[in-house]
Amino acid sequence: MNAEALNSLFTLFQKAAVQADWKSALEALTMELRPFIVFDNLAVYLTDPKTNALEVVYARALGRGKNAEADAAWGDRIAAEVLTHGHIVLQTPPHKYKPHTDRLDLSHLLGMPLYEGAQLSGAAVFVRFGGPEFSDEHLQVAALASTWMSCLFERRAWQDTYHQLDEVQRRIRLQDDFLATISHELRTPLGFIKGYSTTLLRQDTSWDVNTQREFLTIIEEEADRLTQLIEDLLESARLQSNTLQFKFQPMRMDALIRDAVLRIKQRHPGLSVTLDFGPVPPIPGDNIHLTRVFENLFSNAIKYAPGSPLEISLRQDRDTLHVHFADHGPGIPPEHQAMIFERFYRVPGEHIVSTGTGLGLYICHQIIMAHHGKIWVESALERGTTFHIQLPLEAVAPSET
Ligand code: ADP
Repeated sequence: MNAEALNSLFTLFQKAAVQADWKSALEALTMELRPFIVFDNLAVYLTDPKTNALEVVYARALGRGKNAEADAAWGDRIAAEVLTHGHIVLQTPPHKYKPHTDRLDLSHLLGMPLYEGAQLSGAAVFVRFGGPEFSDEHLQVAALASTWMSCLFERRAWQDTYHQLDEVQRRIRLQDDFLATISHELRTPLGFIKGYSTTLLRQDTSWDVNTQREFLTIIEEEADRLTQLIEDLLESARLQSNTLQFKFQPMRMDALIRDAVLRIKQRHPGLSVTLDFGPVPPIPGDNIHLTRVFENLFSNAIKYAPGSPLEISLRQDRDTLHVHFADHGPGIPPEHQAMIFERFYRVPGEHIVSTGTGLGLYICHQIIMAHHGKIWVESALERGTTFHIQLPLEAVAPSET
């Protein structure tokens, strides 16, 4: 190979190396490698670390009248051979070219091993139809290209590991935040209960009946808050481990929402809730858990969209029931919307409401999923938030899950 050829080979590898992802890098390499090694097809195989099966990760047909998938099948046997023997496999056609021989019957196959570190991890198979045979120089270029591909796949594996670690770190951070939140959430009501009961028990002071009632009401409310918190924790743990029991029976969503509205209005008489219900049939559902979903949505609307009127609509949409639960509060920033159904996730920032654990929407999501439904959010800053829930009208057979 002369200096000029070496130079352009160097430029080609440099060009391929700066591609954004491994597929574009491989594509750049394949398209420009042909002046150095003539081939009609290239197929790249990697061993799946979980199943140990050899899988085609890339296939490119450059010759006329061939298709990539069919050619990848051509390389299967050679790739397996490379993996078994751990070295280059070169296969030439059993008979020589004669006039009128179809060039597709004269295949030259060159299988190059790929490595991850010292471990054999796959094969790159170059296919050439007709002739001439792969020369020593072609073999050297193929060896260079496959070493480069090995590095490319190794980099991909490192990137995957890096992303997984990043995700693990993010979850650990969420759990750390959760521990800080939960200790605050437990201490605050306990502090109130202890403070007010100590005050009531003081021997040196007597309290009139109204004050006593006021203090006892606070103690009761804070005890309820603690109970709710402990229930949330237990429920989320059961949902996480798939041990929460569901009792599905025909139930009316319109009645369930009306009951939930009545209860919330007892506690928040000023809350404005508009209901817009179309005719809907009963659906298979667990009353207690679905009630929980709406209690969480109400409690969030009161916390995060204080003073906002709420609108709830209910419609049958072909074979599903569709609920919209809308407020006109501050909304959820777009970059957080995808995460709010995650366990422990709370939208950070100065507007964060002090009470909360990041469990409410996770619980809602898991309950709706257990009903084979969907829940998602649409939200615009300063305009409000709408939660959508879709539930199937008919029971879903276990095999369809
Ligand atoms: P928590 O309320 O305990 O923080 P949730 O899982 O119920 O946890 O909610 C997750 C986050 O979603 C909340 O921290 C809040 O930032 C955001 N959020 C939920 N509902 C609303 C809403 N109606 N308007 C604005 N933000 C909301």
